[in-house]
Amino acid sequence: MANISERLRGMKFLLDSMLGRLAKWLRIMGYDTYYQSKYKLDELYELSQDRIFITKNKALSAKLKGILLISNNIEGQLKELKQKLDLTQKSDIWFSRCIICNTKLRKANPHWAQESVPEYVYIENKNQIKFCPVCKKFYWPGTHRQNMIRKLKDLDF
Ligand SMILES: [Zn+2]
Repeated sequence: MANISERLRGMKFLLDSMLGRLAKWLRIMGYDTYYQSKYKLDELYELSQDRIFITKNKALSAKLKGILLISNNIEGQLKELKQKLDLTQKSDIWFSRCIICNTKLRKANPHWAQESVPEYVYIENKNQIKFCPVCKKFYWPGTHRQNMIRKLKDLDF
């Protein structure tokens, strides 16, 4: 098995079934983050071969050489991760991934976007609308995103 520092280079994560909220936030920050609400142990073992396993379960973290988080809230968990890994230098990849399925977002086709998002959103964001080819969900900068950016900045990202 690759050691932690080797695996860090690619920064691909595998989150245990308790960490759905953290998965969402890592995807917001653009990190390749695998998450399911249920796993079989051999499945976790397989996936942890080329991903950094993050868990709140002490036994599992030992078994799969993962990173053990202590905090129960999202802010604390992000702080812990920031401390243990270098998550600070990549704000250029924020909002580049689907928060639901982890797929890399693509630039949305303008005609398609125009038909699918509210008119004011289209007018204000025409060239910045992105699209998940798997979920068929559209993403654009807006109030919601401003709040997320503020939260990440508050946490020193
Ligand atoms: Zn998606």
